[in-house]
Amino acid sequence: TNEPPPADVPEACEFDKTTNARGAKVCRRCGRPLRMRTRYDVWYDALITTYVGDRYGVRLGATYGDVLKWLTALRPYRGSQGGANAEFYDTVYSITHVVYTLNEYGQYRLPARLLPREFEFLKANLREAVAEGDADMLGEFMDSLRALGLTDADALIRAGTEYLLAHQNADGSWGDARERDIYLRYHPTWGGVAALSNYAWRGTGPSPAKLRLLLALNQASARAEY
Ligand SMILES: [Zn+2]
Repeated sequence: TNEPPPADVPEACEFDKTTNARGAKVCRRCGRPLRMRTRYDVWYDALITTYVGDRYGVRLGATYGDVLKWLTALRPYRGSQGGANAEFYDTVYSITHVVYTLNEYGQYRLPARLLPREFEFLKANLREAVAEGDADMLGEFMDSLRALGLTDADALIRAGTEYLLAHQNADGSWGDARERDIYLRYHPTWGGVAALSNYAWRGTGPSPAKLRLLLALNQASARAEY
């Protein structure tokens, strides 16, 4: 928890699914080179894990606050840069999961001024999900932007809505209907449903404890910038 999100955590081996220790460059089973996970991927995985751990009352190596504070190390965010930014996808999911874990997965609105850089990134890049035909990512963009205050009156939400309505499968799902991985069947469908939903918000969040974490984080990043 005293170290920013690392870039030397390998993906499982693509050939035999063997998991390898941090820092490994080749698979311990087959010797083939390993691909590294992005810092964003490692970080938001930890964010979700600690969020669930804290909620359930089981400490999983660190607390949610220990992980959230490293958000500053992930800024500034880069757009897809015409496909050149290999971290774009994980950047999007990092930011949407900041929103989800702060608003208890769709229960509270969040003031956009608490997350100004994240709000700007989401607005600037939503159309990229439409251009890529990625219903899953588009769902996360729209869901998060609604939590931060956009509504059907905003052109971005309307553009996303039009895309989703035009690309829903005959069975009501979204994504590739021939996909065999069940996660890739349900998650885009969940995304489409969430993006088109109007939530009955319980009010404005985040909780006082999370607000303190966020204010400390924004203060630290302001100090670093000036
Ligand atoms: Zn291997």
